[in-house]
Amino acid sequence: MKKEDLNRRQFIATAAASSVAAAASTAIPAFAVLTRTSGKLAILGGDPIRANKSWPDWPHIDDQVVEAATKTAKSGIWCRIQSANGAVATFEKEYARLMGTRFCVATGSGTQSLHTCVEALGIGPGDEVITSPYTDPGTISGILSSRALPVMADLDPESYQLDPAEVERRINENTRAIMPVHMMGQPAHLEKIMALAKKHNLAVIEDAAQAHLSEYQGKKLGAIGALGCFSFQTSKTIACGEGGAIIGDNEELMDKCYTVHNHGTARNGRTELIGPKYRMNEFEAAILLAQMAGVQERFRRRNENAAHLTARLKGCPVVTPQKLYPGTTSGSFYLYAMSYHKEHFNNLDRSRFLKALNAEGISLSPYIERGLHREPWVDHVLRNKVYQKMYSAARLQQYRDELSCPNCDRVCQEMAMLWASGPLLASRADMDDIADAILKVYENRNQLT
Ligand SMILES: *Cc1c(COP(=O)(O)O)cnc(C)c1O
Repeated sequence: MKKEDLNRRQFIATAAASSVAAAASTAIPAFAVLTRTSGKLAILGGDPIRANKSWPDWPHIDDQVVEAATKTAKSGIWCRIQSANGAVATFEKEYARLMGTRFCVATGSGTQSLHTCVEALGIGPGDEVITSPYTDPGTISGILSSRALPVMADLDPESYQLDPAEVERRINENTRAIMPVHMMGQPAHLEKIMALAKKHNLAVIEDAAQAHLSEYQGKKLGAIGALGCFSFQTSKTIACGEGGAIIGDNEELMDKCYTVHNHGTARNGRTELIGPKYRMNEFEAAILLAQMAGVQERFRRRNENAAHLTARLKGCPVVTPQKLYPGTTSGSFYLYAMSYHKEHFNNLDRSRFLKALNAEGISLSPYIERGLHREPWVDHVLRNKVYQKMYSAARLQQYRDELSCPNCDRVCQEMAMLWASGPLLASRADMDDIADAILKVYENRNQLT
């Protein structure tokens, strides 16, 4: 009880310190705040912790963004090949600088970036790439588009990241690359994954689609493997609708990425390779450039808010925030992810917990319903004639037999996460709403049946 009283007092102090929050709370007498983590659950008719308050909007829109889109429209320079120093070329330089790599190639999406990397590394039919089943379909799409085999390794159930021991178990003579996914924007266990790659002579393509500006052992994610991929799809922490980027330091490989993404046509104008057309357009780049000035500040804020939330939830048995690996210098918080523990909630289903929270005005999501190893594409691929020609019947049978990923299944069942791009830009008092709602629902769990 003592600890909570302190939390409530801290909440009041924080609210009072901020003039905006203080103005908003003048209508609420202090005792209303004091009773906010006890009492009747809102789902049973009690007062909700958070009512009639919104979260910061996402994507980030300001005058500069609108101006950039208008200016691009009026310029008539809409495609990158119309200008050597247009918005796309400028964005590539700017993003490479931000990430600390020598080169960047912008693309039309994160999925396009990943496919470009697979193609540029010469990975194709007969080859295997080890990746995570707990991810956006875009991760495996890049592998499948090149008709290579995405081999799924199971997770560390506390970090939601690839388990390096599971990765190693799945390496065979046809494995060409590992594609770790930095899930939720936090670093996968890159130290072990990079060591495995070195030992077995494999390329590492980092799927950093959720992990802009996140750092591991002092280096930006995406800049550690041979190539790193990002997404700027609307929901991501840097957004332009649909967009992507590849970063890297190897000039020859990055030139190859450019050629692949430019329908196989190199910078010198010669058409050399097989390649789709995945170029970012000038509108997308202009909108990204217009947001760059505030990007670092927004990341700092999300990190601060996440740290506060984690501190407030420490010791609350019903949820455990995502485990971060040693070496995580800073996270990215595309999602603020937690595991829900039914055994500390009278064995009630996660849906009961989420509904009770929702009634308190806090909306958490179960996120990915089932891992990619449970989606119907597996049957499609195993029946596909390219795969049947390029992989032995024994290998395809073994592939099916080894598809099980029980830790991933468990993560899918336990996940309770907050879409963080906008919400984690809110105030500390807003973070306290999230924590208070979780604590209230937990403390009053016996009201639910
Ligand atoms: C969003 C995402 C992708 C795909 O990026 P798009 O820009 O949507 O194509 C790939 N991997 C992960 C982990 C993602 O979150």
